[in-house]
Parts: sequence; C-alpha cells; structure tokens
Amino acid sequence: MTDGAAVASPIFAGHFSGRRAVVTGAARGIGLGIAQAFAECGAAVLLVDRDPGVVEAAENLVSRGHEASSAVVDLTNEDEVTALFARVREDWGALDVLVNNAGIITISDVESLRTADFARVLAVNTTAAFTTTREAVPLLRAAGGGSVLNASSGQGRQGFIYTPHYAASKMGIIGMSQSLAKELAPDQIRVNCYCPGIVETEMWAYNDAEWGRRLGEYQPGELIAEWIDDIPLRRPAAVADVANLLLYLASDAGSYITGQAINVDGGMFMS
Ligand code: NAD
Repeated sequence: MTDGAAVASPIFAGHFSGRRAVVTGAARGIGLGIAQAFAECGAAVLLVDRDPGVVEAAENLVSRGHEASSAVVDLTNEDEVTALFARVREDWGALDVLVNNAGIITISDVESLRTADFARVLAVNTTAAFTTTREAVPLLRAAGGGSVLNASSGQGRQGFIYTPHYAASKMGIIGMSQSLAKELAPDQIRVNCYCPGIVETEMWAYNDAEWGRRLGEYQPGELIAEWIDDIPLRRPAAVADVANLLLYLASDAGSYITGQAINVDGGMFMS
C-alpha cells in the first residue's frame, strides 16, 4: 500500500466525508489498506498500531491530501486503549467507524504450543477488539450510531491445522460480534465481521514458510500457490477486495446489516 495506487472503489467517493474512523493494525497489510480506503472516501482516519511505523503510514496519507493521524498503542494493554479513546473523545467528540483489524498468528503443533502463546493470540485477536469496542461505544452513540468491523478469517469458518489458538480467536470474535450486535442495535451501532481468505501480506509470508515446512517439502511460495489453485476465483484477495467490503458495510447502503460474518475469499468458503 505504499505505491500510491487508490484502494477504494470510486462508487464510495466522498461517502465518508465528515465521518471519523479508527483502524487498528494499520501500520501495514490489510489494516493500512482499510485506513487508506476510508481516507480516500473522505473520512478522518486514526491509524493505530503497536508498530511505530504507523506514524509514517499516517504521514504518507496526509502527504496525499487525506485527513489522517496515528497512535502507537499495544491493544492488549487496557490502560493504553482507554487513553486512546480518551484522545478520540477530546479530538473528535464522537466516532462513526471502528475497525478492529489488528491480529497475530503463530503456527505450532499441539505439544509445542505454550498456554501463554495461546492466550497471547486470543488477547490480540479477540479480547483487544472487545476492549476497544467497549471504549468506543459512548463515542459511537454520540455520533447517533455507527459501525464496528471485526477481523475474522477463513479460520472463523473452519479451523486449519497447527493453529488451534488462531481458530479459537477467529471463531470467538464472530460470537462476540453477534452478542454485541444484539445489545447495541437499539443505538444503531452495527457490529459485523469480515472473513478474508488469502491476502498476501507479511502474515501470509510467515504462514507460507511455517505451514509449508510442517506440511511437506514445500519451497517458499509453493504452498500458497497450491492453496490459491483451490480458490474458485483462482487468485488471492487484494487488500482492496477486503477494504471495499468494509466501506460497503460501514456505508449507509449497509445500514440493515448487523451481526454478520462475511467471507471475502474468492469462494474458498461458501458458508
Ligand atoms: P499483518 O501481520 O500484516 O498486520 C497486522 C498488524 O497488526 C501489524 O501492523 C501489527 O503490528 C499489528 N498488531 C499486532 N498486534 C498488535 C497489538 N497488540 N497492538 C497493536 N497492533 C498490533 O496482518 P494482515 O495480514 O494485514 O492481517 C490483518 C487482519 O486480517 C488480522 O486480524 C488477520 O488475522 C486477518 N486475516 C488476514 C488474512 C491474510 O491472508 N493476510 C486472512 C484472514 C484474516
């Protein structure tokens, strides 16, 4: 997402003018693409990541004429998250869109997987999305309603081998989103999940190497190529494919959709 190419479909041009969005895990990969997409459509975007590279990511958006700022936050630290949303209240007073995109994965056989590592994946992928949502609710109410978008995965549909913690976290976030969607619907706060298939980010470079090593004699790039071959649309997702689903869900056109988990995976999973 550093080549300056547009991410958002022109059909959403200007749609988010005057709206405010927080995007987590926005230093790189899918999160950076989502932040760029909302900014291209006129939103003021706060990019959040524990990686200090998020500062430069936001500056790049500003240099392209967008409204963007950044915060370096470890989302598993409750105090840091509370302080983050205190800042949002001070700066904006209200919030329209929260994207809980930050996530981590490790690949491990069951006997090597330490309980602390299991818990760390749940802490980032599931629990942190709860903490941010809790802190954001008063601000979403202040905006008269809004949209929470949570990163699930193909592993929210079916657990893959060597990732019981990641599968638990990505199925867990779907259940959490359904529960919150019911509670927050009277405030017109909608909560949905997006389930990407394969997006060629740094996370997938790790997956290809680690799964490839454990599943057979795969050379770098061979395993992912084999998996892509099984996708009905025969290509990985572009970051834009994911970002445009989120634009739709957060837009006025998506105003009747809540409590859903939507696959954006080229047909990899069909339920
Ligand atoms: P990535 O590893 O490229 O980026 C994740 C970002 O999250 C990084 O910038 C990282 O610093 C940030 N992050 C991690 N822990 C954090 C913490 N404690 N506090 C703050 N920031 C933190 O990953 P990606 O491929 O862009 O994936 C984005 C989301 O999409 C993740 O939730 C991932 O599980 C999900 N997903 C990705 C794929 C894929 O194929 N890449 C598929 C399905 C789901």
